[in-house]
Amino acid sequence: MANDPSIQACLDKILERPADQITKSFIESLFANYHDKETNQFKEAPFKATDKVEILQSQYKYVNDRVTTTLGLLIYNRFCLERTHIIEHLGYWNTQIDDKGMKKADKAIISLCLEDKISTETFGAYVDARDSLGFWCASFLSVAISAALLRPMEDVNKRKKELFEENKDKLQNGTAVEQVMITNKIEKELVGMVRENLKNDYGYDMYASGDGNLDNNYKTINVMRGAVFNDITKKYDVVEASLMEGITQKDIPAFGNSVVAAAYPSAVGTAEAGYMSKQLLAVLQSERLDPDPNSDCGTESTIPFTVLDSAKDFILYRYINDNGKKVLLDQSNIGKYVGQRVQLYSPQCCCNDAICGKCGGMIFHKLGATQIGLLSSLITQKLLNIKLKSKHDLSQNAGTIPKEQLFNDENNYCVITPEGMLKNKVAMRIIIPKVLEKMSGFVKETSLITTMGIAPVEFLDKNGTVIFKTQMIVPVMLDFNIYEEPQEDIDSYIVTYQPDSEICSLNIQKSCVNVEAFINQVYLESNKPQVPYKILTDLMFRCLDMNKINLTGPSITYEMLARRLCKGSGRESFAKVYGKNPDVDQMSYRKVDFRLCVQESGISSSLFFQDISKSINIGLSQTLNGEKPETTPLEMIINA
Ligand SMILES: [Zn+2]
Repeated sequence: MANDPSIQACLDKILERPADQITKSFIESLFANYHDKETNQFKEAPFKATDKVEILQSQYKYVNDRVTTTLGLLIYNRFCLERTHIIEHLGYWNTQIDDKGMKKADKAIISLCLEDKISTETFGAYVDARDSLGFWCASFLSVAISAALLRPMEDVNKRKKELFEENKDKLQNGTAVEQVMITNKIEKELVGMVRENLKNDYGYDMYASGDGNLDNNYKTINVMRGAVFNDITKKYDVVEASLMEGITQKDIPAFGNSVVAAAYPSAVGTAEAGYMSKQLLAVLQSERLDPDPNSDCGTESTIPFTVLDSAKDFILYRYINDNGKKVLLDQSNIGKYVGQRVQLYSPQCCCNDAICGKCGGMIFHKLGATQIGLLSSLITQKLLNIKLKSKHDLSQNAGTIPKEQLFNDENNYCVITPEGMLKNKVAMRIIIPKVLEKMSGFVKETSLITTMGIAPVEFLDKNGTVIFKTQMIVPVMLDFNIYEEPQEDIDSYIVTYQPDSEICSLNIQKSCVNVEAFINQVYLESNKPQVPYKILTDLMFRCLDMNKINLTGPSITYEMLARRLCKGSGRESFAKVYGKNPDVDQMSYRKVDFRLCVQESGISSSLFFQDISKSINIGLSQTLNGEKPETTPLEMIINA
């Protein structure tokens, strides 16, 4: 195929210009419509960024043989990849830069950086180029609204009526999970039709780019409002009308509920995520890596880590013990471990003060960072973004917890009914820690306690003798039914269930609220062991996976939290105890809350965060006892 002469002219123009002279005004001269001041007329751009063009290797050396591409992609290649020399590793990039394509390109370039093929400076230059190009072009290439986006779609509305009629009974009378499942199915089909209708419309670009969310924004405005949780009935009101169709009288309460459900988490979430970020930094500020990547503390202890597909990227460049062999996980071998439970060398087992190369892995060595505790705020930053977005994203997700994920030790003392209700065959006692009570989310009423499903559990025979002890390990908020006033001690509520009681529904709403409650309860606030030490990290990732939340932080962040907040008998970390003795009782650690942890780690650490007078007292007594405080990088910055 020979190129159309005018497009060939544009191709020549782009190719003959040195890459560092591709500027904003050059790109505008090719692709931007403009207002001609002299004639006072609007002029069409001479070319379209989506115009197809064929390029041979003889014309552009980074092309392999020949390629059919677009003028826009050629600009991307030259401006973002050629100028930074990344193209020498990647070759000509010919995947459309929409939402998925952008992520794919970024991932490929990050891998180059981790494999030391490009420097972090080059990576930075790429990010600058990518963002400059995006911002420049957004002003003349992106369209916020088109006629097709505004008009009602007859075929979609017709199908919606049919689907609501077909599923009427379950939508109104089904369980909460059934309601959400069916609503999701209906929405998926309808939004699929919308995508097909909009496929060639220029208004769709905004959604294809990932900037707009068709499944949420467009859906709510033009297709249907969808499922809105009703806190009184504990079920969903499924609203068929869209905002464009208008609100019927019977839908007014549901719309009211949706406004509250949307605005509250983002308003309160800003403060909560900000505070959590401060807590993480205070706790982790002194964690550092041994600068020698080959260092080895000698431990043979590991933690189990289930390599879920959603978690596999977060243990890259870490070491595992694969049948006695030390294996470095990288892009080439991680795939074969997906679905398996691997044995991960971890800061949670490291016997040295500075985390050794074997336990910490290679990722931060590759990035040239050793003060890794200070990088932990990545996850709270992401949490904040998710919460702010929840104002716009009202899509609902529900599911039921499977039986094998209920308890730390398998047992047959409980059943789950088809409706998702947990029932006990023998008497059961659950010891609910009073941890979340200090925070929002925990509720105690006469007939109900709402708290995280993480608590010690005992099963009893007819004489009231304990026959089996384990821990419930469900990392989401659950509503426990209360049939008689619970007993209470200083740290917990003790709730006893007679055999065959309806304990709690295991149907859950997936939400970042569960993730936040988990971090608060299990890591930051508890002052008693909640779950066995070595499964903490695995459970954290199960929590993220169950709730479909990706905080983009590497696993090591959570491992360091466990290392910091779980102590041996003295101030020393339980990591050292476990690192030296793989058989140590996994519930025998001393759990400190983040306040005590920060105060104990030394006066400068705590001055930056905690109650000053208490910090000075602890600091004085440590000096008198000859205990050495830990250094913190913040102190070094201030002293410098
Ligand atoms: Zn180590």
